[in-house]
Amino acid sequence: MKVTFYQRFHGETEQNYIRDCLSSNLETDGFFMQKLLGVTKKLYPDSFALFTTSCTLALETVMGCLELNAGDEVLLPSFNFPSAANAVLRAGGRPVLCDIDPLTQNLSLEDVKNRISKRTKAVVAVHYGGVACPMEELNRLCREAGAVLIEDAAQGIGAFYQGIPLGTLGDYGTVSFHHTKNLTCGEGGLMLTRQEGAYHRAQQYRLHGTNRTMYLNGEADRYTWNMPGSCAALGEPAAALLLSQMESLDEITRIRTRIMEQYMEFLEPLERQGIGRRMVIPDYARPNGHIFYLRFEQPRQCRAVRERLAEEGIDCKSHYVPLHVSPMGQKLGYKPEDLPESYRCYQTLLRLPVHTGMNQEAAELVAGRIMELCSRKKGV
Ligand SMILES: *Cc1c(COP(=O)(O)O)cnc(C)c1O
Repeated sequence: MKVTFYQRFHGETEQNYIRDCLSSNLETDGFFMQKLLGVTKKLYPDSFALFTTSCTLALETVMGCLELNAGDEVLLPSFNFPSAANAVLRAGGRPVLCDIDPLTQNLSLEDVKNRISKRTKAVVAVHYGGVACPMEELNRLCREAGAVLIEDAAQGIGAFYQGIPLGTLGDYGTVSFHHTKNLTCGEGGLMLTRQEGAYHRAQQYRLHGTNRTMYLNGEADRYTWNMPGSCAALGEPAAALLLSQMESLDEITRIRTRIMEQYMEFLEPLERQGIGRRMVIPDYARPNGHIFYLRFEQPRQCRAVRERLAEEGIDCKSHYVPLHVSPMGQKLGYKPEDLPESYRCYQTLLRLPVHTGMNQEAAELVAGRIMELCSRKKGV
């Protein structure tokens, strides 16, 4: 049996929504966007929401609202996708890469404490795999330093920190609907904030730095260029598809979480044998089954398991080349040994397939093969 790494969820309503959408004029922020905002409000009742063409553009919108000056620093984890770091560079700031906690692969609080300073304008907390960062501590550190807290909840839809949805615990949050995420509309993103002033600025950034939204709402008789901006609004066809996906959020989260829990159970013996560790979920976190991963003791073992499973049609994946190790990180002056835990994670983390097309049998097969490969003397 082959097990693919990704497989998107196909919602029952999506064909109908797309068809209805195509008979409209596809106006930006039209009928389906309004419907989508309505459903989104139920998930994030205390936040303002802006849908964007990607999580990357949502992060650019956030950074565009911060008015960074040259020399202003933004802290973010090195074990991360490049989006937040790019957004900082584009906004004229300096990304400062931090190391991670080996249990959750989220920002190390110790390292943030060491690097936070008067120059720090913001901290970006990535909720790796949809497992919440320690938000109370991060909020306190940011408040003390006068820094803005941004949650990159790209992987975090349907996940919570102490019952509160990820993306709504800091000053700003962003979510991704890329095809690799739990919900997808091909490419899409979401920016969240509880602050009305920040929302109005972000609204303008998203529409070319203009107050076009006010104009369309009849609150202004023409719209003007008021600040630097971009063109970041999610279009109607994608909104129609995403509406359908949103309606299935609970079902998608339930299926994925179940697969994650089965891996947790089946792979527990690896820890007793000292071969590797399963992902850790702190008490304050309720994840969404976005990722299940193992961290092996030995890089060699991690690679061998991935290669052997690939030969059998089971697709497992490593994850990020840490930003500080990448060619761009080197250009920014980092050396691979600067952030040791991020480097070790890059060498020893293996993600297992998790998607809504999987059943218990598939999860058992994957876990069973890993147990066999690791326990055989001549194995890996
Ligand atoms: C997927 C992802 C992004 C990028 O999302 P896009 O919607 O593709 O722009 C950014 N940050 C993290 C942590 C991600 O996982």
